[in-house]
Amino acid sequence: MSTIAENIAKVGTRIHRAAEAVGRAPETVGLLAVSKTQPAEAIRAAALAGIQHFGENYLQEALDKQAQLEDLTLCWHFIGPIQSNKTKAIAGHFDWVHSVDRLKIAQRLSEQRPAHLPPLNLCLQVNLSAEDSKSGCAPDEVAALAQAVAALPNVRLRGLMAIPAPTDDPLEQRAAFAKLRVLFESLAAGLALDTLSMGMSQDLEAAVAEGATWVRIGTALFGARAYGHSQ
Ligand SMILES: *Cc1c(COP(=O)(O)O)cnc(C)c1O
Repeated sequence: MSTIAENIAKVGTRIHRAAEAVGRAPETVGLLAVSKTQPAEAIRAAALAGIQHFGENYLQEALDKQAQLEDLTLCWHFIGPIQSNKTKAIAGHFDWVHSVDRLKIAQRLSEQRPAHLPPLNLCLQVNLSAEDSKSGCAPDEVAALAQAVAALPNVRLRGLMAIPAPTDDPLEQRAAFAKLRVLFESLAAGLALDTLSMGMSQDLEAAVAEGATWVRIGTALFGARAYGHSQ
């Protein structure tokens, strides 16, 4: 069994090599540790080993762990599907939300963001593979959604996020991430976007090669998850 500190070093090396291979500065790639299904103790160990950003998919599980880790200064990212009855708690307990895929959710997050907190950082989740079962807005709807979200007062639109269909083929991985990058580049200048959230344990190299600014890494840091959520 490797320790979390060893895994963090390995993932850091992977990011470093992937960035240098395409001439990017490695520090432009943020490491978001995806801690869904992991106990608070695993997050504490990762935090002690230097990780500051944690991604969670399930609201109640995240709130429970946040309560146990109140003594640490951590940055929390919500990355799971969002039902409208969960927006108030998400707006109050997270710094980032990567999985906004419709205007109504962004409007509620903006309305419900507590006044004493800075604007909530948002990414729009894009469905690259057009599978009905996956969350994310359709690529041809992103521009209009981005314009509308960027106009909301208490959120700050930062960029785009995607979870492409898994594949072991590095060329297919890159092609999917390239689609998100092209979409991002078409919007970035006009809306001052700076964030591409893409790449997981299996495909972070391809994502970094295509410009990821957050890679979202679970298994490669914490090991296999104890129970089988796919997202
Ligand atoms: C679980 C999850 C990840 C991390 O996946 P790994 O393959 O364990 O690295 C990243 N992003 C999202 C949205 C997830 O749900």
